Amino acid sequence: MNAKELLQSSIVIDTHLDLLCDVVPKRRAGRTHVLRDDYLASFRAGGVTCVVSSLFNDIEGESVDPLTDAMTQIGALYAELSECGDDFFLALNADDIRRAKEEHKIAVMLAFEGAEPMAGNVELLRVFYRLGVRVLGLCWSRSNWAADGCKFADAGYIGYDITSDGKRLIALARDLGMLIDLSHTNERGFWSVIQGGFPVIESHTNTRALADIPRNLSDKQLEAVARSGGVIGINGYSRLAAKDPRTATMDTLIAHMVHEKNLIGAGSLCLGLDQCDRIHTYASEEEKKIRFDIIPSHAMLEEFVTRMSAAGFTACEIRGILGANALRVIEKVIG
Ligand SMILES: [Zn+2]
Repeated sequence: MNAKELLQSSIVIDTHLDLLCDVVPKRRAGRTHVLRDDYLASFRAGGVTCVVSSLFNDIEGESVDPLTDAMTQIGALYAELSECGDDFFLALNADDIRRAKEEHKIAVMLAFEGAEPMAGNVELLRVFYRLGVRVLGLCWSRSNWAADGCKFADAGYIGYDITSDGKRLIALARDLGMLIDLSHTNERGFWSVIQGGFPVIESHTNTRALADIPRNLSDKQLEAVARSGGVIGINGYSRLAAKDPRTATMDTLIAHMVHEKNLIGAGSLCLGLDQCDRIHTYASEEEKKIRFDIIPSHAMLEEFVTRMSAAGFTACEIRGILGANALRVIEKVIG
């Protein structure tokens, strides 16, 4: 089976895409049908079944309060789903993802990338759950009321543990059947949550063995995520792939995956491509040599699968990495 056939016959899940950071400004500028016009072709070419779309508050870039910001993003997604309903729908569980595959549609699952919108009001999580949010990423690379983020490159920063309100938030998320995503959470918070003994994901994080920055995971952390029954998504953002991001290529990502496979097995891996080029429009030409997407379009997944195969991943392992592994965790935790 060639790469294209393998992709098109697999469930393909990208566990981290800042979709709404791109869609909201375009809708503000008067556009509609952004998912259909800007995304559908590349999703189809890459065999994409489901994307997990972040609610990310750009509070450093905008003066909008995080709750309004999150509501605006969800509203924009609902508007897009009603306009592009022939091809996209909101995924609430594992069955929805399977249905997307059967009906040749794209399922969009909502995830927090930081608890800022709830501003300490733990019970607001119930409202977001009703709105369709199924994944709780506690924080971005900054500090908030629930958790502390690993700062991008400051290896000396220790930071604080999950706060008591953060622990209540996690407990409620568990009761509701939401998946906890520890990407960006600092090491103290990571070990604190891992002790809970339930499956957690690192939706878009690479390995410190190959790119030693606090944002990536040590071998001990990789082993702990695997032991929890969770998955780790390979992140295609150059700065997480290589200590010198200028040198990062698809093969650099494959090297992270080979390291993980040898350590914890391919069954704990998934894709969290973290495409940023669309939203890093401010980047200068010089910055773009450092901050770029190694896989800027899902259409390039075919080439990525070819390279995985060349690196010794079996068809079965590749199917798992493309989506089956993430689906297994979604099914177990979310239902
Ligand atoms: Zn992120």
